[in-house]
Amino acid sequence: MEEISKTPLTELGEFGLIDRLMKDVKIKEKSTIKGTGDDAAVINNGIFHTLVTTDLLAEGVHFDITYTPLKHLGYKAVVVNLSDVAAMNAMPKQITVSIAVSSRYTVEALEELYKGIKLACDNYGVDFVGGDTTTSRSGLIISVTAIGQAMAEDIVYRNGAKENDLICVSGTLGAAYAGLLVLEREKKAFKESQGAQPDLESYDYILERQLKPEPRLDVIKALAHLKVKPSAMMDVSDGLASEIMHITRNSQTGAEIFEDKLPIDHQTGDVAKEMKLDPTTLAMNGGEDYELLFTVSQEDYEKIKDNPAFAIIGYIKEKNAGVNLIARDGSSNPIQAQGWDALNKK
Ligand SMILES: [Mg+2]
Repeated sequence: MEEISKTPLTELGEFGLIDRLMKDVKIKEKSTIKGTGDDAAVINNGIFHTLVTTDLLAEGVHFDITYTPLKHLGYKAVVVNLSDVAAMNAMPKQITVSIAVSSRYTVEALEELYKGIKLACDNYGVDFVGGDTTTSRSGLIISVTAIGQAMAEDIVYRNGAKENDLICVSGTLGAAYAGLLVLEREKKAFKESQGAQPDLESYDYILERQLKPEPRLDVIKALAHLKVKPSAMMDVSDGLASEIMHITRNSQTGAEIFEDKLPIDHQTGDVAKEMKLDPTTLAMNGGEDYELLFTVSQEDYEKIKDNPAFAIIGYIKEKNAGVNLIARDGSSNPIQAQGWDALNKK
């Protein structure tokens, strides 16, 4: 009898699994410009190209309903997709939303979820154009697809970074993960104390970053206004370390990132201290920041240097230089992507 091998999912990790499942998928259609392997797929529609991206959130894996308000969850489910469209230097136009839901949820609970979805659509001028609803045996699963648009020549991929380009990131890093650590800690304390209400006031910024992130479409607009087209870009969903590895691998380059340039909010620093963690680890590996990581030519330095919306954190190097974090003491440490991995996360 033929041996059937049974490889556990955890052996491959998320990206390994995608590679394996997609390996014999061939692009047949001339209008398909980019399939898997970037933040969104790109379809040629003449002058304008269409961007398509989809993301699925599963209860108990991506969110914990005990501390995630449903309205926030709906909002975030949309935002993570709009962020992927922004990462292609494009504007989102429409979404579809599909849910699978168990009988544990009431109609009113789902109305709350959809309030958040509609709010995100209103805030970002996106139309909610369809979807599907079905039952689930356990918990809630939400899948959102976003459709975006850009002029063909404006689209930015992960593979365009060149040696000496500046590496930039918008906003701050590590805050969403710091928020998650606080929520998990307070959940545990709540259980142990049988109902004491947690004091979360001093954590407002990081909790908002975890529960209600925003897509950086303002950064896309700011770059267009400055007449700066990044050479490569992606959004920070799995952590800076993982994302810089994607950009350098796709662009066939190395990189140098400076620890003292990482934008870290003081609340993130406070939580790191309380929990005896290194704030740099939170910034590099925390994930779910939904900021934009992009590279620009040195010629654009004057245009971007004083913009408070983003920080210059390093340089693209030639491939053999590797991908390194230059610590505060000047030592150079290879960056390893230990970020969030959907299939390995408990
Ligand atoms: Mg992405």
